[in-house]
Amino acid sequence: MSHNHYVSEENLRKFHNLQKQISACRDCQDHFGFEPHPIVFGNLNAKIMQISQAPSLNVHNTRIPFYDASGKRLRSEWYQIPDESFYNPDNFYIVSVAHCYPGKAPGSGDRKPPKCCADKWLAQELAFVQNEIYILIGGYAAAYFFPGEALTNLVFQDLELNGKKAFVLPHPSPLNIKWFRDHPAFEEIRIKKVSQVIHEVLGL
Ligand code: SF4
Repeated sequence: MSHNHYVSEENLRKFHNLQKQISACRDCQDHFGFEPHPIVFGNLNAKIMQISQAPSLNVHNTRIPFYDASGKRLRSEWYQIPDESFYNPDNFYIVSVAHCYPGKAPGSGDRKPPKCCADKWLAQELAFVQNEIYILIGGYAAAYFFPGEALTNLVFQDLELNGKKAFVLPHPSPLNIKWFRDHPAFEEIRIKKVSQVIHEVLGL
């Protein structure tokens, strides 16, 4: 696939300015009760825009996106690409509906990501990044782009978003074990197709 979009100096400057603003954002500090660490990763010409729910505590602490058990499964078992291909900012623009770890929810799991983040920041990133395909990870991100559609239906469809190919994946978290047991066709068939598309887009 060709990927020779022209990027003007002006656009590049505006985009870097946007990324700086996101990194400096502390809007949710009072709501979280701790200092937010916005995660910003990727270049304007990244080939794949990957959008998930929100960074985990590990990612909050290390500032490296998907630096956790979910990320390991995603890269090595699902995408089947080396870590250096995943963490290449010309390959992946790695973003979430919220850029920061939102804290623990009472009981188990993390809090829901703050809604304001996507409207304020992700919407602008979507307008800039010149990706070829989208990968949406988990029910929350899927519902942001395809409201009212069941996650399982979306996972097994070839979708389109902003005129580009889009794929929805379930969250790779080990906590999601029941969904994987209930839908063996995902790991046996579907993810192999998505992996193939990723390899093609990245020229691997
Ligand atoms: S979640 Fe988004 S809006 Fe809230 S502090 Fe982080 S970057 Fe800012």
